[in-house]
Order: sequence, then structure tokens, then C-alpha cells
Amino acid sequence: MTGGPARGLAALLAAGLLLGTGACGPKPAASSDQPLKVAATFSVVGDLVRVIGGEHVALTVLAGPGVDAHAFIPTAGDAAALAKAAVVVENGLGFETWLDDLYTAADSQATRVAAADGIAPRAGTGEETGEADPHVWHSATNAMAMARNIKAALAAADPANAAAYQTNTDAYLAELTALDGWIAEQVSALPAERRKLVTTHDTFGYFAQRYGFEVLGSLLPTSTEGASPSAQQVAALAQAVKAADVPAIFGENIGANGLLNQVAAEAGVKLVATLFTDALGAPGSGGETYVDMMRANVTTIVAALGS
Ligand SMILES: [Zn+2]
Repeated sequence: MTGGPARGLAALLAAGLLLGTGACGPKPAASSDQPLKVAATFSVVGDLVRVIGGEHVALTVLAGPGVDAHAFIPTAGDAAALAKAAVVVENGLGFETWLDDLYTAADSQATRVAAADGIAPRAGTGEETGEADPHVWHSATNAMAMARNIKAALAAADPANAAAYQTNTDAYLAELTALDGWIAEQVSALPAERRKLVTTHDTFGYFAQRYGFEVLGSLLPTSTEGASPSAQQVAALAQAVKAADVPAIFGENIGANGLLNQVAAEAGVKLVATLFTDALGAPGSGGETYVDMMRANVTTIVAALGS
């Protein structure tokens, strides 16, 4: 997948699909009778914007439910959404490697906001030293910080509706506080030695940190892009799973779980499919919102590791 997103953009430019977008005309601005145009890079951040923005925001989500945002390839429609947006909300911490090029190609004038701003990053794995793990949303307390950042950005771009954004945020923070407490309570049913996670890629670092799990290992590092585990890595992970005596490992909703199936077979454990990791679930999946995704994941994890 080397250069996939960049090549996709080059093709769009060559086809002339982006020419003229946003090249002239005033910066899009909100007025009291027109919703604020906001683009969110991926479904999880999009859900937070939806909740906080409510009826005052016209939202476009680029990488939708079930889509792997690490390896996302933007379309002409995504460029057009950035060209029209007044605000672009991204996760940040290097998660959206494709966004800078898209933003430039679209000649977007939107204010960029990183939802993860101010969250203490943990170190990523399998990447250059100093790169951060971007998967902050798997901790409900981090989601609270993200919600506050999004609220501040929406209020700054659309001061006329600042009170509504504050009201929506206050209600949501209460919901996230309840979610955080519920997760801790569910997890407390698991003996400490059972709190071990194996997934396709290293996405549960902040979840583990917050809720007392150990990430035993994963097939891929914190990014899925361009990575492909060797037969030796697959065998080593299977060995680690066997040695740790965990009853189950977990597939993800953003990609194929074939190799993880192989790990499970070699280790003689169950592969539980699937957790909602870097994307919300499609309608009917039970993971359509951030809160639903977290509840579904915790329910699945506790049931699988507790059995
Ligand atoms: Zn990821």
C-alpha cells in the first residue's frame, strides 16, 4: 500500500477533479440560520462532533464505519468536503497520515482541530522512535478531553451557538463519566491474570492503561499501513498466547482477520470476532456510536476472557 493515498490524490488532480475547488471566494462561515459545515476525518471523531454539534452542524465524515483510517484513500468527494468545511476535526497524533496532502490538494481554508490535543500520548510500537500511539479514544476519559476540544472549536467557529454546544457537551460528559464507571465495574469481574489482550494491530494501549489490562501482543504495530507480519511473527505471537494461558484473542472490524485466525488455531484458543477498534460499526452492528462501541467491546472482552 506504499503511497496509496498520495497516488490517489495525484490521480484526482490529474483528472482535474479538484481544480478550482476553494481557489477563490470567501472562507465559509456560519450564520445563525445555516449549520456550521464540519468535516471529521473518521467515524469515531465524527460521532463526537455529531453529539456536540447537534442540529447546528452539517457533518461530513471521511473514513466511515468499518473503514481503516490508517490506510484510507480519499476521494474527490472527500476533497470537496474539505473545501467547503469551516472546521476539520481530526484525531491527531499522526493518525491521519493522508490529511495534510488532502487538505492542501483541496485548497481548504477550514480551521483544523486535533481532538487528541492535550492528551498525554503513550509511545507507539513498530514505528520510528518518538512516534505517538494515536488510539486515544479507547479510554472514556480521553473521549471526555476530545469532547471538550471539539466543543471549544465549534464554539469558536460559531459563537452564536456556543451555549448549545456547551449544553450538549455537559450532557455528553455525564454520559461518558457513567460509561467510564461502567467499564471499570465490568472489568472488575475479571481476575487480574485474565486481563490480557491480543488483537490484529496495537490499538488498545490506552484502553489497557485506563482499565488495567496488559496488551500481550498484536500482529501489526500501531499503524496498519504497509505492515505485513512474517510467518515467524505469527508463530511467536501464537507461542506467547499459549504461554499466557488466555482463553481468547480478538479480531477487529477494520480489516481481515485471517492471520489472527491462524494465531488462534496455532495457540489452540478462540478467535472472537469482532471488536470495534479504529472505526464505528455499520448500522445494525451494535457499534454505531462511540458509547455503543465501547459497551459492545467491553461486553465482548469480559465474556470471552471470563469464560
Ligand atoms: Zn489503529
